[in-house]
Amino acid sequence: MSHPPRILVLGSTGSIGQSTLDVVTQLRSAGLRDYAVVGLAAGSNSALLARQAAATGATDVAIADLDAAAAYRGPGRVHSGPDAARVLVQAIAEPGDILVAAIVGAAGIDAVLAGIERGCRIALANKETLVAAGSVVIPAAAKAGVDIIPVDSEHCALFQCLHGEEKRGEVERLVLTASGGPFRGKSASEIASATIEQALSHPTWKMGRKISIDSATLANKALEIIEAHWLFGLPADQIDAIVHPQSIVHGFVEFIDGSVLAQCGPPDMRTPIQYALTWPDRVNASGHRMNWAELSTLEFEQIDHQAFPVIELAWQAIRAGGTAGAVLNAANEVAVESFLSGDISFGTITTLVGEACAACAPQPAHDLSDIREADAEARRFVNSHLPHSPANA
Ligand code: NDP
Ligand code: MG
Repeated sequence: MSHPPRILVLGSTGSIGQSTLDVVTQLRSAGLRDYAVVGLAAGSNSALLARQAAATGATDVAIADLDAAAAYRGPGRVHSGPDAARVLVQAIAEPGDILVAAIVGAAGIDAVLAGIERGCRIALANKETLVAAGSVVIPAAAKAGVDIIPVDSEHCALFQCLHGEEKRGEVERLVLTASGGPFRGKSASEIASATIEQALSHPTWKMGRKISIDSATLANKALEIIEAHWLFGLPADQIDAIVHPQSIVHGFVEFIDGSVLAQCGPPDMRTPIQYALTWPDRVNASGHRMNWAELSTLEFEQIDHQAFPVIELAWQAIRAGGTAGAVLNAANEVAVESFLSGDISFGTITTLVGEACAACAPQPAHDLSDIREADAEARRFVNSHLPHSPANA
């Protein structure tokens, strides 16, 4: 009898991680697929991690925060510290395992690379890994012969539309849809001093805090444009984004003969998560259905680049190449954290990202150390421009 496929869920206590475990449970209880969840990783939520480990029977858990690791009261071997997720992957991952990469931010890069090196299939939600380190991650995956299956809904859409259309010369443009976030239709001055609560209230998706703020500034779409560049190998002028408030159409592929393929579905991350787990098969998912009787309109609008200048920064980063993506990503991570701590205004997030991109000249990004250096430089730059920085006291 063959063993069930093994899964490692990194970022299991987050929005994508919890939805992934939900999909695994649903597939098992419907008798459709059985997966063995062998490893789980979190940042600090040791109480939820303990419940997840007990429920799944995972043999190993990783907790980045040392105090949280000390407080962990659950089953399994515990790996702790900032490198814990990577150490867990290196300790238990086997060729053919599915690694669900759902840690938020550049903190997820090392574990993804470790998974690739161990021959895991990567179900990638952690877009920052590609934005910052695509020049290392994509060649590593090609060398190891492993697939990176996007979980991000727009990229899952493009991945499906490109299926059987592998001749990239026939693709004219990829178009990602954006809900527009909570500030769609507002001007830069209207949103400059938006509150944390306003910025967190996303109209269509329920997500983690960082990506919710990214969706309000449209940095999420900027990161996704760079993610699409790495996943599908197209240049900046062939990747665009358009606002689509209903979040039903997730992406378009335009071909040179004028044909356009789109992928649609209800805005529920369990659909792309399940697709990434079961690919190349499709498996029944009861309940995930379009309700055409309720849906009357699909709207599309151009992005307002004056109100949301970060999209332009993404195209510039792709054109600049090297460490430009790592700089944009790291600057954005620090700026979002500062906004969520109440230290800077909403409008300052994108201003700081733009200033960091201008100040930190892109360098060649041959290996992870080049990326780490650029990431650290951008973090230093933004930190030194925060109001509480000693430089500004
Ligand atoms: P959450 O903030 O909800 O979850 C983040 C997860 O990462 C948590 O499990 C957190 O643990 C864990 N984590 C944070 N830092 C570390 C670390 N240093 N080491 C190990 N684990 C860590 O985020 P989301 O689930 O919303 O997003 C995760 C990723 O998926 C992001 O890259 C996001 O852009 C992407 N994504 C998310 C979508 C969504 O709908 N949510 C859609 C498309 C992409 P803890 O709980 O202990 O803090
Ligand atoms: Mg997305």
